Amino acid sequence: MDLTVLGCSGSYGAPAGGACSGYLIRSGGTALWVDCGNGTFANLQRHVAVEDLDGVVITHGHPDHSVDIYGLHVLLRYGLERKGLPVFTPEGLEPELRHLVRDWDDTFDWIEVGDGDRTTLADVELAFSRTDHPPPTVAVEITGDDKRLVYTADTNTGWTVGAFAPGADLVLSEATYQHATKPAPIHLSAREAGEGAREAGARKLMLTHLWPRLDPVLSVAEGSEAFGAAVMLAAPHMTVTI
Ligand SMILES: [Zn+2]
Repeated sequence: MDLTVLGCSGSYGAPAGGACSGYLIRSGGTALWVDCGNGTFANLQRHVAVEDLDGVVITHGHPDHSVDIYGLHVLLRYGLERKGLPVFTPEGLEPELRHLVRDWDDTFDWIEVGDGDRTTLADVELAFSRTDHPPPTVAVEITGDDKRLVYTADTNTGWTVGAFAPGADLVLSEATYQHATKPAPIHLSAREAGEGAREAGARKLMLTHLWPRLDPVLSVAEGSEAFGAAVMLAAPHMTVTI
């Protein structure tokens, strides 16, 4: 299973091409786009042909995770004339997104998912868990090639990676803030990301969704100390094999 970071800026785009949240997961013959943050559709097209996408997951409706679905809609509808691409979302998101396009012309097959839901998409299995974040938000566990990736989406500490089975091969955790200066109870600090992954027995941890004005070196140090091992830091266009 390969994970490619399409964007990882926390909450707004960083300078110099810092796209917001988006990830490409490839496993077996399956290509899955997880989160459509601003800037990620352009980056996606450097790594996969849009024709080869098997599905999309949007973890919640905040713009830094959802707005590039509009670019995909334009290309599929008016360029490739493809219909029925599966898009997994939390409850109530599709009607909110629809306001800007009036109708989607069956471009997408919208599938609502919630806490505890499981499904299969081609060669991968998906499981969802409702996180601690203001709009309906789902974390997603992706299983394929005998590997397991857990992506936290956005969350505070009222939800942890432990909602899924312990021992994930990689936890991709939001780590928006640093602990001493955490300003709002809707995201994790790097310390909290490390603690959650350690308690869930994660084999590896990658931090993402850092607030762009924070020093990422300090976040990595804080997260590594809490995790008990060196953590990885997401960066646009990096690919790791899980
Ligand atoms: Zn976010």
